[in-house]
Amino acid sequence: MKTIIRNASVVLPSGKVQETDIVIEQNKIASVGKSPEGVVYDREIDGRNKLAIPGFVNAHTHASMTLLRSYADDMALMDWLSQEIWPIEAKMQREDIYWGAALAAVEMIQSGTTAFADMYGPWMVEVAKIIDESGLRGAICRAPIVTASLEGAEKTWQENIWLYENYNGSSDGRVIVLIGAHAIYTCPPDFLHRMADSVAKLGARIHIHMSETKGEVENAKKEYGKSPFQAIAETGYFNNGGIAAHSVYVDDEDMDIMKQYKLYPAHNPTSNMKLASGISPVARMLEKGIHVAIGTDGASSNNNLDMLEEVNLAALLHKVDTLDPLAVPAFKALQMGTEYGAEALGFEDCGRIEAGCQADIVLLNMKGAAWTPNYNPISLLVYSANSSSVDTVMVAGKVLMEHRELKTLDEEKIIYEANRCAKRLTGK
Ligand SMILES: [Zn+2]
Repeated sequence: MKTIIRNASVVLPSGKVQETDIVIEQNKIASVGKSPEGVVYDREIDGRNKLAIPGFVNAHTHASMTLLRSYADDMALMDWLSQEIWPIEAKMQREDIYWGAALAAVEMIQSGTTAFADMYGPWMVEVAKIIDESGLRGAICRAPIVTASLEGAEKTWQENIWLYENYNGSSDGRVIVLIGAHAIYTCPPDFLHRMADSVAKLGARIHIHMSETKGEVENAKKEYGKSPFQAIAETGYFNNGGIAAHSVYVDDEDMDIMKQYKLYPAHNPTSNMKLASGISPVARMLEKGIHVAIGTDGASSNNNLDMLEEVNLAALLHKVDTLDPLAVPAFKALQMGTEYGAEALGFEDCGRIEAGCQADIVLLNMKGAAWTPNYNPISLLVYSANSSSVDTVMVAGKVLMEHRELKTLDEEKIIYEANRCAKRLTGK
């Protein structure tokens, strides 16, 4: 299968935008540049007036949490979790994970996301199934919570190992399995030290919430005499790198640990603002050469899975935080939401539009008021447009949405089933 996207405005890895062609062979980009006359392609996509970007990578979410969107808002993190979220999550059944993740997949494709990192409860096989059916990429894991029950946490950890052994690399490499843990305040260092065995044996990378609130860091310092990063680094759990979600309260020493262990902070600006967690020192981390990725967090603390909105906020929030309008420029924010995210999840040949990379490409329609006049398409994308401009989405050379029509998922059925599951769970 040979596809050509003709005359698109292509965002190159350098940040330059070039009007040219992209040739795709099977799942990969074969070339970026003017295609010679006379070559016949199996499929031609008209790229005129379209901006071609690498697909967004959501580096931290809880996909099936879409079922709890708008269920409980405007609360403090621990009250929100313990009073509203965890009691409902405890009731979730297998089909809830499936339809919740399906709803997330519809929203992600429609807003230009091509890969996501999902940490959630039992039946992650259902998320793997949705990844397989939708055509998206996903890095999935469980999240042991020792504070709820040691026995339960052991079981969750074993399930995560089983998931790794059975699903890592499945769906033609579109599924990656990480070894997840919820956070230091629910999964203490002695348990993470044991989990480090699996990291070493399997060669797996990790995904954990890190230093999300001030209280979390203060408690770790009281209990272990160290920051969460320092305490966990000693356990071996970080040894193969992975995703450090949030990373809000981090100092220079923590940042050195990120660099040493190839940890990618997943910055969640909306969630941090909505839960009043604080502002992550993203500008400082970037300055130190850390590839900060971007995530939405779960849909009940955001409340959507729109990565373009997060990229926009990442570009704005750190300007006002540092009082420096040069902090996190538009292309840097886009790179964080695409290329750095792909690195964070472990999809090594994704996140760039260049020959040899996976063909994970999003075309945005540059017609309309928000795109006019067009002096600088990257600036328009990050500061002016919204994700309703997403027109066509391709993952591994397969079109998942064309002219906003979903090709792999049945939106109407998914919304119906998601509503049915949500009603049973919450009684509302
Ligand atoms: Zn989270």
